[in-house]
Amino acid sequence: MKENDLKSLQGKVTSLRAEGKYKETIEACYDLLKRGEESNDYKSILVAHLNSAASYYCIGDIEEAFRCITAYDEVCREYGDETDHLNRHNVLFLLYEYNKDFTKAKSTLDKTIALGTRLQKYNIVSNAYSNYSHLYLAEENFEDALEMGRKGLEAAKLHCPPSVILELRVKLNIAQAYIGLRDFEASRRLIDEIGEQPILDSDSYIRERVQFHMLQGSWFSHQGFYREAFEWLSRAKDLVNRYDDIYLLEEIQRERCRLCEQIGDFKTGFYVQKEYISVLLESRKRELERTALQLEVKHSLADLKKKANTDHVTGLPNRHRLESTANQWLKEAADRYENIVCIVVDIDHFKCINDQYGHLFGDEVIRDVTEACASVLRGDDLIGRYGGDEFVAILRGVTLDVGVRKAEQMLEAIRNLSIHCGDTPVSITASMGVADNREGEVLGFNDLFRRADVELYKSKQSGRNRVSVGSQLDGQQVQI
Ligand code: GH3
Ligand code: MG
Repeated sequence: MKENDLKSLQGKVTSLRAEGKYKETIEACYDLLKRGEESNDYKSILVAHLNSAASYYCIGDIEEAFRCITAYDEVCREYGDETDHLNRHNVLFLLYEYNKDFTKAKSTLDKTIALGTRLQKYNIVSNAYSNYSHLYLAEENFEDALEMGRKGLEAAKLHCPPSVILELRVKLNIAQAYIGLRDFEASRRLIDEIGEQPILDSDSYIRERVQFHMLQGSWFSHQGFYREAFEWLSRAKDLVNRYDDIYLLEEIQRERCRLCEQIGDFKTGFYVQKEYISVLLESRKRELERTALQLEVKHSLADLKKKANTDHVTGLPNRHRLESTANQWLKEAADRYENIVCIVVDIDHFKCINDQYGHLFGDEVIRDVTEACASVLRGDDLIGRYGGDEFVAILRGVTLDVGVRKAEQMLEAIRNLSIHCGDTPVSITASMGVADNREGEVLGFNDLFRRADVELYKSKQSGRNRVSVGSQLDGQQVQI
């Protein structure tokens, strides 16, 4: 695949995720991953794993997200650059935070800070400190939350060009830490400073504005001014209703209920409680929708994988699947000296059938022939389409003699097919080559296939409609 095509697929993945189309992102990542692996393009592989991980996180499938990030790690360690490592830490932090594994989340932030500092990416460093501070706030460790917030502020000041929003985000955490430490004067000074920033009025930073209102609420409620706190929280609620963050809304409503109790305003409390219940119901509904989406993604990926492994004319495993399964079997067989037989089947004069009766009829013949072959095989034998009118059967744990007998039965079943094009009977024959792995000596499918294919060639050369067999019974031909 051309480099430009891979680049445009990478772009597609990134923009789908930015649009919040997570199922489509994961599907596109699957495609990108396959193509990236085919062309050994590590950037594409990394983009695919990373965006899958982030999308799984967004739909709440944390297990899958971890699986993707583990796969990302393997490639990143060998081929990734520093930005790839930073991206890894970012996603991993979110996963640990989601799992409430704060120890690992912090150690991921340590790595981000160290690498970000070395690369002088101070926005990343400042955000990492801000996240650090946030974790400490959740643990009610306000001293450390304050310290991390201060470091985040220093990093934000180093950022070039200066970024007001970067500083503001850290200040929100610092002010909250001061509240926790009951230093209401210091936190008030900071809150007023934040409140004077015009950037807070911008709709692009509505989330920060909500946090600012919640901070105000926290400042008042920690000092027993519950009414004022309630008003700030109500404003926060109105703001958060303007964009879609059900979890934040849940938090705000829970706090509003608590404040109503503190105030002793049971009438308002009754309405707030009702609002809270409807938020909880909505949240539950979203949870179910996310579970449904997770299942949908699982099914859709299983479907894509199946399609990628299946030949669409016959429904049999395709060459790729044939190769990977056979390679696995041969590896296992080598460990236990097990015999494996490969039968290659090729329809005789198939071009003439296509020419005479048409391509669609040819497709039907292909299906009939594979069904005839499958009918003499056991359920645990493998039969797949190698390509064109050539099929391969792999039989485990059988001797070459047994394999030859199976091939003969297949030959017979094909001959006995009653195929008609309209009223015209069409007789079909095939030629076959059989070889075995010599009880574990042959380690790869390609090698085993080559041996059987040489025998197939002999069958074709000596008149078709027959089985030739290699290995111990070298060059022997069987004709019924
Ligand atoms: P031989 O006895 O030497 O095998 O002669 P042949 O005519 O069968 O020659 P060969 O195996 O090389 O030809 C395979 C033909 O199968 C060529 C191609 O047009 C046809 N073919 C490949 N894939 C398909 C398919 O999916 N459907 C149909 N109908 N024909 C196919
Ligand atoms: Mg043929």
